Amino acid sequence: MIYKNRRAPVEIEGLITLKRRLARDHPVQKDITKRLYNMKAGYSGERQYDRYISEFKPSYPHAILHDVCLKQDDIYFQMDSLLVTPSKIIISEVKNLAEKIIVKTKPLQFIKERQNGERVPFRSPVTELDRKIHLLRLWLKCRRIDIPIEGIVVFAYNNELQFEEKPPVDLIFTYEIAAHLRNVAMEREILNRQTIHKLANEMVSAHRPFNPFPLAERYSLQPGDIIPGVFCPSCNQLTMRWMQRRWKCLNCDQIGKKEHQQAVREWCFIQKNTITNREFRSFTLLNSRHTAKLLLAGIPQLQKIGKSKGSFYKIY
Ligand SMILES: [Zn+2]
Repeated sequence: MIYKNRRAPVEIEGLITLKRRLARDHPVQKDITKRLYNMKAGYSGERQYDRYISEFKPSYPHAILHDVCLKQDDIYFQMDSLLVTPSKIIISEVKNLAEKIIVKTKPLQFIKERQNGERVPFRSPVTELDRKIHLLRLWLKCRRIDIPIEGIVVFAYNNELQFEEKPPVDLIFTYEIAAHLRNVAMEREILNRQTIHKLANEMVSAHRPFNPFPLAERYSLQPGDIIPGVFCPSCNQLTMRWMQRRWKCLNCDQIGKKEHQQAVREWCFIQKNTITNREFRSFTLLNSRHTAKLLLAGIPQLQKIGKSKGSFYKIY
């Protein structure tokens, strides 16, 4: 049974909005494009994995959790997918890379080969898995659970893999996951149905998603780098202006009442999780303090804190 599903990382939406609020030739555009590409590829590999693991329906009690981020001794560790069975826990590390991947043994090394033939090593997913297994073991120990934990590296099926020798870990493709798990032998029962259920629920409530915001901080952006304006959903430009009690696009005449809500969401991705009346006006190119107050008061995700001049809104 699936206890936790995967959702599209909100960072993807954040990066898309940041990209269109920066000049095309801004120096960080390249980094953002690369990060966005990697995040989308990673997510699509994980979705592939989710589709194939849905074919895995064992007769024994079990729990499947996708994208779980736990904290142990102030260290966060994120697991792409977890399977809890009566005799062991299996962590999957899902990879989706554009390049051809070469796996060398003695010592174990993962190498990406670019189209021009250039070879660069990348951080071993096996080392990443070992770290996660170690931290999960400690996390479980705090809950008085002692159970073997295994890891598997799963590559998206569009990846090209080349092994020099059989690697000392399980490396499989997403389409092999159900068959692979069916072959995992169930040994001594350590967790019964009830304990598995309880543990899975505890993991779901302990899950703390990674917060990538604000993006201005990560990319060291100055307020002047960010292009203000309200985004037009019809022509995809920052060309909406408030006139005659509504938003109107200067480019395509699209009309709307709620487009400033999306602007506040974007502000939160880029700048911070609070906004003042003045900041809102300069971000949405609005002149009237009074109109800004009315618009801000109508956004359900905002809570006004303080009174008169020193007041601001907290964004939830
Ligand atoms: Zn428009």
